[in-house]
Amino acid sequence: QTHFLSHSLQAKMSRPVQARRLEGIDKNIWVEFVKLAATYSKVNLGQGFPDFPPPDFLTEAFTRALGGNHMLHQYTRAFGHPPLVTVLAQFFEKLLGRDLDPMTNVMVTVGAYQALFCCFQALVDEGDEVIIIEPFFDCYEPMVRMAGGTPVFVPLRPNPPKDGKLMSSADWQLDPAELASKFSERTKAIVLNSPNNPLGKVFSRGELGLIAELCVKHDVLCISDEVYEWLIYDGKQHIRIASLQGMWDRTVTIGSAGKTFSVTGWKVGWVVGPDRLLQHLRTVHQNSVYHCATIAQEAVAQGFQRELRLYGKPESYFVQLPKELQQKRDWLVQSLDGVGMKPIIPEGTYFLVADISQFKSDVPDAPNSDEPYDYRFAKWMVKSKGLAAIPLSAFYSEAHKNNYTNFIRFCFAKEEATLKAANDILQKWKQEKTSS
Ligand code: PMP
Repeated sequence: QTHFLSHSLQAKMSRPVQARRLEGIDKNIWVEFVKLAATYSKVNLGQGFPDFPPPDFLTEAFTRALGGNHMLHQYTRAFGHPPLVTVLAQFFEKLLGRDLDPMTNVMVTVGAYQALFCCFQALVDEGDEVIIIEPFFDCYEPMVRMAGGTPVFVPLRPNPPKDGKLMSSADWQLDPAELASKFSERTKAIVLNSPNNPLGKVFSRGELGLIAELCVKHDVLCISDEVYEWLIYDGKQHIRIASLQGMWDRTVTIGSAGKTFSVTGWKVGWVVGPDRLLQHLRTVHQNSVYHCATIAQEAVAQGFQRELRLYGKPESYFVQLPKELQQKRDWLVQSLDGVGMKPIIPEGTYFLVADISQFKSDVPDAPNSDEPYDYRFAKWMVKSKGLAAIPLSAFYSEAHKNNYTNFIRFCFAKEEATLKAANDILQKWKQEKTSS
């Protein structure tokens, strides 16, 4: 026994265990800020998920699936449960104006997150460059790096309106010459995220046309993350880049039932695109996760069948949800504007970015810290005010982070009571400021 113990102690590994592809990508904003919010927040407007219930028709579909055909507890088709890929194909045929084969033009994934992972693993090689528009959903960068690619960043640049009005996410724009300068013979793909997390920007037809033109000119792929496709406000229109001239053949469009039906915990996502691209995504998928929970896919299929029947009608969830969210956006805009935390009005998504440059005197100085102001502010705010939000510089590359440290991101997909509680915190804060 003693001999065995000392042997096992000596056998402790000393060689490096981490694969080289993980070097430099171990930090993750969500691990830290989700924990901070769980520990300190009274009102959590940080991570992006609704605190209101999903629609009854969807939870009812799930319950029916649970108690119905017992085969729904078993494996289904690897690349997507047949009823779900079928209805997704029907739905996207309408949206993209082209025929789709459910078996080859659609694949179901474990959330949009795994769809992204499949895209980068399947399409990006060692040495390839991938253009990422800043600010960006933070996982794009490590996913490109894990695939051996090199991210190349191009920022949306803010153009403040001159008339003293609040800024809109539409005021953040690409510089066409700067964007063009990022394309080279090494460029394999560009990642587009419209509506954009964190800004809520909905790219215009002109902006998408410019991106499409550059993709065609340089023979580049487009990974189009459209998870907020239904969350569009003020009568704006969501334009799918895959529907523009020359783009279908080179575009993978990504969606998420989590965002579409307010069920982020179900982790059902999908990709739509040409077979010549999706065949390689299927290779990654079948050799990594294989498939997504059958019951969740069945319920999402039924949700889409309902939405297909009610398409464009007032009872459609895709019509109702954005209406409700627009109201919530406007409440939060008002609360923030009232205390001088200037909001940038989002055209889409359930996020809102606000300017915190007026609050520098509230946050204690940290002369020896190289932590950006927005990180220090967000941490201080959750600890001392109980309100959680996410620093905007988390959505920038290391090289550009320091140019965008005066903003934080709030999620407004929350119950009226939650937004009211946030407003109470902000108003009280304002009173303390004016009386001190
Ligand atoms: N893309 C963007 C832009 C997102 O904001 C998110 C979720 N925050 C995802 C993808 C991941 O979606 P899912 O939860 O379906 O994996």
